[in-house]
Amino acid sequence: MNLFNQLSVALLPFVPKVIVARFAKPYIAGEELSSAVVAVKFINNDGALATLDVLGEDITTREEAIASREECKRVISTITENALKSNLSIKLTQLGLKIDAEFCRSNVEEILSAANARNNFVRIDMEDHTCTDETLSVFRAVRKNYSNVGIVIQAYLRRSESDIRQLIAEKANVRLCKGIYTEPLDIAFKLKTEIQQNYLRLLRMLLEARMYVGIATHDDVLINGARTMIRDLGYRKEEYEFQMLLGVRTEKRKELLREGHRLRVYTPYGKRWYAYSVRRLKENPQMAGYVFKSMFGNG
Ligand SMILES: Cc1cc2nc3c(=O)[nH]c(=O)nc-3n(C[C@H](O)[C@H](O)[C@H](O)COP(=O)(O)OP(=O)(O)OC[C@H]3O[C@@H](n4cnc5c(N)ncnc54)[C@H](O)[C@@H]3O)c2cc1C
Repeated sequence: MNLFNQLSVALLPFVPKVIVARFAKPYIAGEELSSAVVAVKFINNDGALATLDVLGEDITTREEAIASREECKRVISTITENALKSNLSIKLTQLGLKIDAEFCRSNVEEILSAANARNNFVRIDMEDHTCTDETLSVFRAVRKNYSNVGIVIQAYLRRSESDIRQLIAEKANVRLCKGIYTEPLDIAFKLKTEIQQNYLRLLRMLLEARMYVGIATHDDVLINGARTMIRDLGYRKEEYEFQMLLGVRTEKRKELLREGHRLRVYTPYGKRWYAYSVRRLKENPQMAGYVFKSMFGNG
């Protein structure tokens, strides 16, 4: 990464929101559910599936958590009404995890109940390491009553191998990603190659156990590794899926679809787009550089 882009990434939180909004556009389906419906229709027309996400994490009041829960239920019914090929992804901090884990669990159960009634599925995203244990325990608690729920494991966490072992024993539905939060060295791998190796090790464990895996990555090393494992283990198309983020590597997405893989696009929408957008821009240092150039008239 060149020095200018590196500096731009570090200074992103100080950029005015209107400028961030301009560059974040490709990553967000809009502020309203109606815009997200249009985006999912385009995704479905291309032969891909979607997972809708209502933006907004780290809320601080019960009222906000309840509002998020109700919006998630609206998403579930809207998916059915519009015959969209989509499920829902949720973040537990948005549903009250940091306020009261039991309150959060009951909010998740309400969403799962609505999804279950419409034969749909809900994925619980994984947030930073301060949420990992509680997220897994809410997942396990709701799974006693609902089977239409999956979890996410982050390959950058050193603990993930042991979590995966347990999730295999529980026959859970897992999305495997690298992980996006800045975590301390004692609990997380930092080198890109170490994270890739761990990702491939965990993916092999899941696939050899014949688990349904959401292979969430845009990294060619991981995509190629996954292609090889899927082929060698004789996986059928309906036994796994690739997953990508809206606005990232659209050509790669089309290539995987042409090869006949099932592929799901993570499609976030909502008024609380800022935190998600900054994370995406930080992953794309060149874009972070453009953000800064645009502030000074060179964009
Ligand atoms: C469907 C899905 C769900 C996810 N859910 C979670 C979750 O619950 N918890 C969590 O911590 N993380 C989640 N992530 C984020 C994930 O952990 C990574 O941060 C992110 O996917 C980037 O990792 P990568 O494997 O694509 O590899 P990278 O090495 O980061 O990216 C590979 C290549 O993809 C391209 N690319 C990647 N990101 C961008 C971008 N923003 N803009 C432009 N190009 C880009 C670049 O060409 C890059 O070289 C999710 C990712 C996906 C795809």
